[in-house]
Amino acid sequence: MTKPRIVVVGSSNTDMIIKLDRIPQPGETILGGEFTTAAGGKGANQAVAAARAGGEITFVARVGQDMFGEQAVAGFVKDHLRVQYVLRDPKAPSGVALIFVANDGENSIAVASGANGRLIPSDVKKAERAIAGANSVLMQLETPLETVQAAARSAARAKVPVILNPAPARKLPAELLRLVSILTPNETEAELLTGIAVRNEESAARAAEALLARGVKTVIITLGARGAFLAEASTRQLVPGFKVKPVDTTAAGDVFNGALAVALGEGRPLIEAVRFANAAAAISVTRLGAQPSAPARSEIEKLLAGAKSAGRRTRR
Ligand code: ADP
Repeated sequence: MTKPRIVVVGSSNTDMIIKLDRIPQPGETILGGEFTTAAGGKGANQAVAAARAGGEITFVARVGQDMFGEQAVAGFVKDHLRVQYVLRDPKAPSGVALIFVANDGENSIAVASGANGRLIPSDVKKAERAIAGANSVLMQLETPLETVQAAARSAARAKVPVILNPAPARKLPAELLRLVSILTPNETEAELLTGIAVRNEESAARAAEALLARGVKTVIITLGARGAFLAEASTRQLVPGFKVKPVDTTAAGDVFNGALAVALGEGRPLIEAVRFANAAAAISVTRLGAQPSAPARSEIEKLLAGAKSAGRRTRR
């Protein structure tokens, strides 16, 4: 089977994580924390997740001309991403996130977007041929909105479907929503976009309805451990999640989106593609870190095959 071709436009960050007994107060210094770094950024997370799930991925992004950018790109190459449109910005540093994680799981995060904030529409234009030849274009909202819009228009001109993960949460222009084939908010993002608090299947259905009415063709609201609610044309369905022991839910949504794009690019029916994405994301929450937690295709298939033989195909 030829691999589905996906263009991911988005952010790349280096996450610098300190684990502490508690989060420091303003003016306070706490010693004794444990330090780790991990590759992150929603765009890069989704690109890497999609590559491991079985896609041929072209990543469009900006990093700085610094050590962090170099390390990030080396990681992309290792994961077989096509990096010719990962540009090295001469003026801004690579994106970084400084993260405190307390023992009780509480966290506090500051992000300096750096070069991510300088991804401009002409960067996307350079990748126009890759976009036109892709099965889909996958995006998030950690890079400038005008760039996301430019990529969506470019995809629409070539009749290539756009998958938009509207994270971090923000309001979106009507034109962009009309250009999106598949919108994948989590509960918080769905609430910000619709004003409907998503608490259960019934409220997810109402929020999805509101988004369909604004011109999105397919809405998939991710519901954490419960799975994802799917709405398109006459389909309204909860696709249950997989039962796992969560260790770190960072990037669950990113892994979901990357895997979803691959499954759809392979021509799987939507419900089956959401199941594939639920399986990939479930594995990711059993592991620490953003990109390190994204599973290989063989692991996703194993979980799906196990669930099938355990007779959990349609219910849990
Ligand atoms: P985000 O990470 O963007 O906030 P969600 O929390 O909705 O998004 O998670 C995205 C997807 O990850 C869910 O639809 C589900 O497939 C999977 N997932 C998240 N948390 C769990 C969990 N505790 N157990 C199993 N799957 C999970």
